[in-house]
Amino acid sequence: MRKKIVAGNWKMHKNAAQTQELLTDLLAKIPTETTVEVIVAPTFINLAAAVTKLEGSAIEVAAQNLHQAESGAFTGEISADMIKSVGVNYVILGHSERRAIFHETDGLIASKVDTALEHDMTVIFCFGEELKDRQSGNHFNIVENQLKDGLFHITAADWEKVVLAYEPVWAIGTGETASPEQAQEMHEFIRETVRKAFGSDIAEDLTILYGGSVKPDNAKEIFSKPDVDGGLIGGAALNATDFLAIVTAI
Ligand code: 13P
Repeated sequence: MRKKIVAGNWKMHKNAAQTQELLTDLLAKIPTETTVEVIVAPTFINLAAAVTKLEGSAIEVAAQNLHQAESGAFTGEISADMIKSVGVNYVILGHSERRAIFHETDGLIASKVDTALEHDMTVIFCFGEELKDRQSGNHFNIVENQLKDGLFHITAADWEKVVLAYEPVWAIGTGETASPEQAQEMHEFIRETVRKAFGSDIAEDLTILYGGSVKPDNAKEIFSKPDVDGGLIGGAALNATDFLAIVTAI
């Protein structure tokens, strides 16, 4: 069964006290009956506290990255085992900010995917074209290549542990969102690409999130599209009222 998910990527926001404050607010306001899976991704340093705070609640916790090696001389890095050891089972990989600012290639992301899956983590795999790709009409090619080069080496069984997040770079943090039609067109293409390589069952069960300037006032329209199964939210996830308005827009 295809799951609906709304995940909040907090990026490099919220210190320890602010993390507690936002989680307290989310716990107070989250509807008791919701069929949507809700995930938050605070910074590494606040993950353990977030897990403790959210214990027994319906909210899951994700890391925003991991290092592909098991352990070793990688100053400043965090391993999958470390993340798992504080009770976190989800990880966001391949975010466009990791690709653009930290030079993560498809090959590197592919090895991070392997590490996450080896540790039985669920991967939220992000990908999406830049503005120049869309302007030149190359966006489908780019998206297909990112998917194939970063993810399509996994086995059929691994797909149970994968959520896709299509995030057109030109819509991230810009206030400019893809239109619901643009999102649906790309999500349909993504599902079709997965179907061709892995078959209908996997493609139909796959959750594909849209990310890029999702706000309370545009979420409903985007989520109404048949191949959009939820969202990966940046700016609007930093405020409980806005984030939960998006959660309930599904
Ligand atoms: P915004 O919602 O701030 O555009 O960010 C989207 C995003 O990058 C989520 O990962």
